[in-house]
Amino acid sequence: MSDATRECPMCAMEVDASADACPVCGYEAPRQKTSMQVAAWVMVLLLLWPALEGLMYLIELL
Ligand SMILES: [Zn+2]
Repeated sequence: MSDATRECPMCAMEVDASADACPVCGYEAPRQKTSMQVAAWVMVLLLLWPALEGLMYLIELL
């Protein structure tokens, strides 16, 4: 599986799938950022949950 490649979204070149950054243009794949974004969304949902429940209560009053 060492010959696995992926297409660079910046320069569309086939680069090594295990490479952290594209050797052609230096674009870094946002792998770790994605998990950070998921964690951030979970935090936002937890923070907004009381507001959402209040909104549901208001909708039921209508
Ligand atoms: Zn590239």
